[in-house]
Amino acid sequence: MSRREEFVAKARALADEIAQVSDRPATLMEVCGTHSHQFARYGLGQMLPPQLELLSGPGCPVCVTSAGEIDAALALARVPGVTITTFGDMVRVPGSDSTLAHERARGADVRVMLSPIESVDLAEQTDRQVVLLGVGFETTVPGVAVAVAEAKRRGLRNFSLMGAHKRLMPALAALMAAGDVSVHGLLAPGHVSTIIGAGAYREFVAQYRVPCVVAGFEPNQMLRGVLALVKQLAEGRAEVENEYPGAVSEEGNLKALAAIDEVFEPADSQWRGLGVIPLGGLALREEYADLDALARFGIEMPESREHPACRCGEVLRGAIRPPECSAFGAACTPEHPLGPCMVSSEGACAAAFKYEG
Ligand code: SF4
Repeated sequence: MSRREEFVAKARALADEIAQVSDRPATLMEVCGTHSHQFARYGLGQMLPPQLELLSGPGCPVCVTSAGEIDAALALARVPGVTITTFGDMVRVPGSDSTLAHERARGADVRVMLSPIESVDLAEQTDRQVVLLGVGFETTVPGVAVAVAEAKRRGLRNFSLMGAHKRLMPALAALMAAGDVSVHGLLAPGHVSTIIGAGAYREFVAQYRVPCVVAGFEPNQMLRGVLALVKQLAEGRAEVENEYPGAVSEEGNLKALAAIDEVFEPADSQWRGLGVIPLGGLALREEYADLDALARFGIEMPESREHPACRCGEVLRGAIRPPECSAFGAACTPEHPLGPCMVSSEGACAAAFKYEG
């Protein structure tokens, strides 16, 4: 048997076992953009019994960045002498009237970087004001924290941060509290969990009685995660299980968590689709407050104004699936996205468009 045949046989065996164990209709949410893409890419949803519904949740870091945060970044890009550095997908996310890519075409200096520390090096080599636009969950925050601390250590007066970082656990709690979607099980994101640890989900699971399984990104790892969820449902359990033990420990990455804690503290944050979530984001600690880009350039965070036709917020809450948006594949495509869920390589709309047509 070839490796591919072996792989497919394992996937089929797992899907059969899921079908045998699954004894009730259930909605399972994958809280990770990479999971969403892998499910769509390998057609794993079609291997599951019809009573199991898979929904994408608020796990795509670019998608959950609010329109107000994008508009603030656009305002910074328009300040003479400012260079914006950020990650690739952010450049194409629409704000209320522009994108960073459009601002670049109009003459703004917007650069894509692979690592946050590149922004610090750039600041050292230029007289321009370098603003790092930092987005994402606990996975990307440690790198940004290290860059901010390094800029401080080097005494750079032309480096600052516009942070739009998000914390996963407050968002999951907000999602459950909103109650507009019944979620019976959560497939927890492998990447974020490597940082926060499987233990971070225990209080949440105890409070909301929702089974939660940390899963890896290979198709069979995800199917094993789904199997663990349906087993819990069939047995009336609601527990945290770690199906990705090679990468995720109970306590997480203590060094990365310490790096975050050195520079940031929890703060309220505006999420696309979920509104302001108490302690759902991170703010610079007082010792680093002089590196806050919005304060340095006197820019207020604008109100979020999203495209009226875009239903990304509902997609991120799992309230609708991407094809239910009337713009999907028509007014909104990867070439001409109306919202971030169609821009990002981790967005649910982009995944549905690419793999499900
Ligand atoms: S298809 Fe486009 S317009 Fe519709 S929710 Fe997705 S990103 Fe927004």
